[in-house]
Formats: sequence, structure tokens, C-alpha cells
Amino acid sequence: MTRANADGGGKPDAAITRGRDYDETPLIVTWEVTQACSLACDHCRADAVEQRHPDELSTAEGKRLIDQVAAFDPAPVLVFSGGDPLERPDLFDLLDYATERVPTAVTPAPTAALDRETVTRFADLGVRRMALSLDGATPARHDGFRGESGSFAAVQQAAAWAADVDLDVQVNTTVTATTAPELSAIADRVAELGAVMWEVFFLVPTGRGATLKGLDPARAESVLQWLHRHAREAPYRVITVEAPHYRRIAAAERDGPARVGSTRAGRGFVFVSHTGEVYPSGFLPVAAGDVRETPLPEVYREADLLCALRDADGFDGPCGRCPHRRQCGGSRSRAYAVTGDPLASDPLCEWVAEGIPRAAESD
Ligand code: SF4
Repeated sequence: MTRANADGGGKPDAAITRGRDYDETPLIVTWEVTQACSLACDHCRADAVEQRHPDELSTAEGKRLIDQVAAFDPAPVLVFSGGDPLERPDLFDLLDYATERVPTAVTPAPTAALDRETVTRFADLGVRRMALSLDGATPARHDGFRGESGSFAAVQQAAAWAADVDLDVQVNTTVTATTAPELSAIADRVAELGAVMWEVFFLVPTGRGATLKGLDPARAESVLQWLHRHAREAPYRVITVEAPHYRRIAAAERDGPARVGSTRAGRGFVFVSHTGEVYPSGFLPVAAGDVRETPLPEVYREADLLCALRDADGFDGPCGRCPHRRQCGGSRSRAYAVTGDPLASDPLCEWVAEGIPRAAESD
């Protein structure tokens, strides 16, 4: 297996970052092509709205952004996110332009617009992956969490259409106090959907998600340990979002899954808003630049905020002296949401709440 670099020294393990230098090139660029969405999910990061913003990046500006993403070497994956990307009438034009230049993924909302023709068109254009959200193991649980009747069935149907056209599916699940007890059952549904990846997002109290109840550090630790055990046997890859201490847990195991993720906000990952501002992540609302003024590669490499977020030695508290700080580093988004300081320690980590074990500190 690939081991996490737990010594805190030198560059991150090149095998983990797949040969990328995250100071130069992200692995993933997420572009929030619009905030418009006809759904109103309780945990929405974007506080999505019904109407498109009048100052959204235009089609021409979107294509310039795609050119900027393609200028990274190697090219990152470009994720078309929202809101609901299908709210943009130029979506297929933009996807066509993107897939010619960079690996491209899309995260449509499960509305009536996500029909067989749309899914087939994604595949025909060369989209690599479609991500769907699943936050409950049954229609009642999922639809209740999403606040939308029929959403569970729409996700199942979209995954079936994707299978028909060999389009990879990723399933995203939000971990809250409500969804955590049924993660095992949701994991079974993920397998039934034929997903290639399960992305498990740990709630950051921002946007509409600020009203939801997350986990305490001890519960998060046990969920992450379960996830790691599950990942060894799962027919899909498992990664966490905004819970990078999953990598600390994986580093303690000798026979864990080969790849446990390597990015965090501003390090290997960067987010471009619907109006062109550049953020370390969609959950860390401090702008580092604007692609209308400065090309994305320049912002990514040179913005003070992003440079600071990549320097784990500069983090405050336990995250700044933890032996896992380079590969983990904690959720910068949660640190900001809870303390107002993106360089503070991640309050969801048990090592932050309880203290770094003495044996680990002396590694
Ligand atoms: S203390 Fe910080 S860097 Fe260390 S495992 Fe916890 S979140 Fe990660």
C-alpha cells in the first residue's frame, strides 16, 4: 500500500500525490458554474438559489477559465459543480470545450433535467465521471434529508442510465449526526449503484449546513475507523472530504486501502465560484483571487492565503506540530468556520480535542 508520510518533514510523498507538486499544480479544480438550483437541500454549501446570478462567468469567460485549467501541467480534473450545472443553457458547449482539454467531471442535481438523454450526452462528450449525492439508505431517509420527494429514485435512475453508457458514477454522502448511524446501509446502496468512488463529506458548519448537527471528535474518529475498515473490502474507492485525519488512521494500518486521498483546501484542490473568485475550497469563504483579473495558475501558486494553507508547519496548535500535518493538516474549512482562522487546528480531530499522543509527538 501507499503509506502516508507521517514524519512531517520534506515534500509530501510523491506516490500519494501521484507525482504532482501541489505547490504548482492542483489535482482537482472545482468550478461552481452557477448557484442556481431548483432544489433547496438543508446542507447546501452554496445557499443555492432559483435564479442564475447576473454576474456569473459568461460562456467566453468560462472557456478562458478552462484554458487556464489546461495550462497546469499535468492538467487537473475539472469538476463542473453548482448549484445545478444543468441550470446553465451553455453547459454542453462548455463541457464540449473542457473535455477536449482536461479530464472533466460533473455533479448534476437529481431533477427532471437529469434524464437519459442528458446522461448519454455527458458520456458522448467524454465526461469522465458523474457525481450523485446519496444521504440516506432508503427513499424516506434520503428524501427527508434532501427535502425533496423522489430524489432517491432519481439518483438510482441516473446511475442506471450512466451504467448503460459506461459513464463512471461517484456517490457523495454528507456525514451528520443524522446520517452517521446509517452509513453502513448507505455503503450497500453505493455498491448497488455501481459507483467507482464513495466520497464521504464531513459536515462543515457553513452555508445551510450551519443549521445541521455534526459529529463530536470521538464519534468522528470511530466513523473514520469504520470507513477505513470498510474501504478494504469495498468494490469502490473511499475518500473523505473535510476529514483528512482519515489519513492518520490509514497510516496506522498495515493493510489498508492503497489510496486515501491527498488533497485539502488550497493544497491540491482549489475552487472557482460562479462569479470567478478563487477560494481554497467551497467551504472556506475567503477569496484568494479572481480569475477575471489573474489567471488561475498564478492565483493558485502565488496567493498568500493558498501558500499559507500549503505550509502545514505554520498551522496553529496541534495541527502545526502533529507528525501527520503534511499529509493530513486538518480541515482548514472547519478551522475557519469554527474559529475564524483558517490556520487554526481542526476541532473535529480527536488529537486536537484530546491532545496528540505522546508516542506520536516523539515520532
Ligand atoms: S492533529 Fe491536525 S494534522 Fe494531526 S491528525 Fe489531527 S487534524 Fe490531522
